[in-house]
Amino acid sequence: MDLGLSGKSALVCAASRGLGRGCAEALAEAGVNLILNARGADDLEATAQTIRDTYVVQVTCVAGDIATAEGRKAVLDAAGSVDILVNNAGGPPPGHWSDWNRDDFIAALDANMLAPIAMMQAVLPGMIDRGWGRIVNITSGSVKAPIPQLGLSNSARTGLTGFVAGTSRQVAEHGVTINNLLPGIHATDRADSLDGNVAKANDITLEQARAQRQATIPARRYGTAAEFGATCAFLCSDKAGFIVGQNILLDGGAVNATL
Ligand code: NAD
Repeated sequence: MDLGLSGKSALVCAASRGLGRGCAEALAEAGVNLILNARGADDLEATAQTIRDTYVVQVTCVAGDIATAEGRKAVLDAAGSVDILVNNAGGPPPGHWSDWNRDDFIAALDANMLAPIAMMQAVLPGMIDRGWGRIVNITSGSVKAPIPQLGLSNSARTGLTGFVAGTSRQVAEHGVTINNLLPGIHATDRADSLDGNVAKANDITLEQARAQRQATIPARRYGTAAEFGATCAFLCSDKAGFIVGQNILLDGGAVNATL
């Protein structure tokens, strides 16, 4: 399927590894020029070079923390006007509801709610003027079904989801869509780290922890960054212009619900 994206530009945040990288690679495959961001410059440049070597697209790197105003300014200055924005950042640490103080909540809100909102506010005027734009926010399956030990994530991402629900309906008439992709467990460094927490908490091996978590998924495996990226590229395509303000769960059936 031709996604109709050749020659367009995308800013993909937190994209040196994992799901952000999967989105970047799928967009590159569709002919989209990329501005990539992540915190570590070396990893980011290595990812960019792999993409340049594989696809015929331009890739610009801007290292920096997207949760900070300085990081966002650097990325936005380098990006200029973009057709596509993929919002992403690392997830907050797990814990117990009684652990977290105001500073912990502010840090989670900054990274997983206020940063993506600020990025949307920055790129939306240009997209609206040009009459075309696509925004995809990487959130979490925890928006549909809470993950108790990820209370900071549950809170921040639900706030972002509320903002997108209203805003997507305000910008759709200008040819701009905003949607959220909700990952269940995917085989990335983040999943490895959460597997490690389960192993430690239950005094079992990493492999046993992974097997336990895979058993909770009807597909009996973790998702891949490539599968996730392909869905992102479709949402960004000219075929997906009627998909507005949706929360699309990619979780191998893990959330047990009819709708
Ligand atoms: P990952 O740890 O594999 O990769 C994270 C990437 O984000 C890296 O490139 C890192 O450099 C970059 N990054 C992190 N914080 C950043 C920041 N503040 N500014 C700029 N770059 C930053 O993570 P992942 O598994 O790809 O997860 C991506 C998002 O999806 C996270 O928010 C995570 O919580 C969420 N999520 C992941 C899963 C999963 O199973 N992998 C499930 C649900 C939700």
